[in-house]
Formats: sequence, structure tokens, C-alpha cells
Amino acid sequence: MVLYLKKGRERSLKRRHPWIFSGAIERVTGEPAPGETVEVRDSSGQVLALAAYSPASQIRARVWTFDAKASVDESFFRQKVHNALAMRRRLGAGSHTNAMRLVHGESDALPGLVVDRYADVLVAQFLSAGAERWREALLDALAEEAGCEAIFERSDAEVRKLEGLEPRIGFARGNRNASRCPIVEYGLNFRVDVEQGQKTGFFLDQRENRQRVRALCAGREVLDAFSYTGGFAIAALAGGAARVLAVESSKEAIEVARENLAANPLDASRMEFLNADVFSSLRTLRDKNRKFDLIVLDPPKFAPTASQAKNAARAYKDINLLAFKLLAPGGLLATFSCSGGVPAELFQSIVAGAALDAGVQAKVIERLGAAPDHPIALEFPEGEYLKGLLVLKG
Ligand code: SAH
Repeated sequence: MVLYLKKGRERSLKRRHPWIFSGAIERVTGEPAPGETVEVRDSSGQVLALAAYSPASQIRARVWTFDAKASVDESFFRQKVHNALAMRRRLGAGSHTNAMRLVHGESDALPGLVVDRYADVLVAQFLSAGAERWREALLDALAEEAGCEAIFERSDAEVRKLEGLEPRIGFARGNRNASRCPIVEYGLNFRVDVEQGQKTGFFLDQRENRQRVRALCAGREVLDAFSYTGGFAIAALAGGAARVLAVESSKEAIEVARENLAANPLDASRMEFLNADVFSSLRTLRDKNRKFDLIVLDPPKFAPTASQAKNAARAYKDINLLAFKLLAPGGLLATFSCSGGVPAELFQSIVAGAALDAGVQAKVIERLGAAPDHPIALEFPEGEYLKGLLVLKG
């Protein structure tokens, strides 16, 4: 089966971008089923790639390989999984944690597949028609290459709907209680709720940033806004923070955060969990004239796509402005956006606007991003979703 591109629409493929949008397609021969492999040809008939067809999605095909002679079969996927795991081993990430992203979709040449490892349990997300089609082969390859018997599937992300796929949650291989997988990150213990936690259970992409914040907290008053299961808050306490206030709207997340705190030899009396909305809590704290030396703002994805960027910008500005007001002179703000629809320059200009309106002077002293087990393939800039700024007030 062949997918012919419109004249001139092969440009992004020539730069090795893996997505083919419906508008770029001239015609498709045969009737490829969801996830079936199609040959991609330019208007002159030259084969450019082999791709997974997704009839329901605007991203109508995702490239598996630019090698026209490759066979897309079980051994092809085994090799890709092998390569992804080998890269993590070379990074040496395993020397300070037993939890890491093993497969990061497009950036690991496996569009639509995300796999995280939490000690001896893998969590997999099949997010495209192509990944879904090769699910069994991928699961076999993952179990074997990672040496893990248990694979929990969290194919419940919203993007699956765009591919015309139903959600699927549960053990795909092995079975055990996975509501509290114990992991260790830089010597700190966390429990990951793989079954009901957000995304695959833990925000592994923030690992190095938690460690960075930890190094800056000695003796400081810290606010961790959007704290989920306490990642930054516990790192801050471990870094010697005088006191930490963690604000989070999910009761379940706070419950796990309390367990996480108890799982570490830390002085729990220096930690306060507040189950509340961050937007209103920041206002209350401001009205009470509370001050912090270090504030972490790690909100959820306000703008998954560029079309929501405007509303997202308002929300980012609001929380950053309030954070600047709550910071003591010389205080630090670690502020993040994980919105794919908000590029790094826009995020920085929003933070700049917030400082201006708050009437404070501030400087970016470091740029932060996702941990190296979440690589960004250069031909796939969409992979750069997590942006962070470490900002010094005054
Ligand atoms: N920093 C965390 C991850 C944060 S994810 C870590 O390192 O693990 C974002 C969190 O914000 C989620 O837990 C979500 O429940 C919470 N959240 C979303 N909207 C919120 C709001 N308005 N107020 C408080 N928490 C919110």
C-alpha cells in the first residue's frame, strides 16, 4: 500500500520529521487498516519512508523508518527497543535511580510508544495506531530487553482518542499490586501509583530539576506549588530546607506524598501539605504577607496545543506574578511549563511580563529541561515540551 504526497510536501520528511499530516497527502492506494505499514512516496514516485497509517488522525502517518528497504516486523521493533535501552545504559542514569523513561516516542524512533521503568515494573503507553498495531511485538521485546516480567499498560492518555483508539488500562504482562511501586531517586524513596497516578505514575522528566532544587534549599523557606506526590517538596526537605509548604489539589496525590515523606528519614514536622487550589492559595498567602526564599511552580499542561496558548499564557502569568510577590528579596523561583503549545521564548516572555507587573527585578540564572532519559531528537522539536527557568529575584 502506498501513500503519495502532494507535490512539494516531502520537505519535512526530507528533514526526517516523522509526521505526515492529512493535508500533505495526494492519495493512498488500497485501504490500509489502522496501524498498517504504508510506503511513503513523493509526487515523482520516489520512496521516502515506511510509515504507520492512522486513518482517524490528523497525523495520518508516522514514520517507522527512512530506509525504504527495511522490513517493519518483529525483529525491527526488537532492535528499536534494544537501541532505546542501550542509550539509557550509556547515559548511566541507572547509577542514581531505578526509575527512568526507557522509550520516549518519536525521539527514540518509536512514534506513539512511551515506556517508563519503576524498579521491576514497566509502564507502557501505546498512543498511536501504529504502536497499537505492534503492541504484542513491542511488549515481548520490552519484557525481554528490560528483563521485566510485569508490564502495566496506561493507554488512557487523551491523545489516543485522536487516533480513534479506546483507552486500555491493566497488566499486559505479569500481575501484581502496582498501586505503590517503591523507587529510589538520588537516595530518596518514593512510592509510585502506577495504576491510578497521573501519566504513568511519576514525573520522571523533573528528576534532575528536583536534584537541582535540593541543592539550593539549605536553611530556606520553600513553597512547592502543584506538588503532586511531593517530588520537589521532599527533595527540598532533604536539601535542608527550614520549612516546606506543598500545595496540591489532588487528595490522592497528597496521600501518596505523605507516604513518600514517611518513607524517608526526614524531619516531617518541617513539612506542611495543603490540599488546595494553587491559584487561590497563592492569593491567600500573599494577603497574609507570607514570604518564601524558594518557590517551585510546576503546573499541569495548561496548553497541550498552540491553540490553547492564549488562555495558558494568562494562567502562567497569574501564578508567576503571585510567586514573584511571595518571594523574599534574593529569593529563587524555579518555574516550569510542560505545555507543548507554549514554546520556550513565549514562556520566558510570560515570566518577564509577570516580573514587570509584580514590580520586581529578576534574572534568569539557569535554564532547565527534561532529564536526559527524555531526549529531544533534533528533527523532532515537538519533543521539547518541558521548559524551566531558575530565576533570581532582585
Ligand atoms: N512537581 C511534581 C509534578 C507536578 S504535576 C513532581 O515533581 O512530581 C502537576 C500537579 O498539579 C498535579 O499533581 C495536579 O493534580 C496538580 N494541580 C493541577 N491543577 C491544580 C490547581 N489548580 N491547584 C493545585 N494543584 C493542581
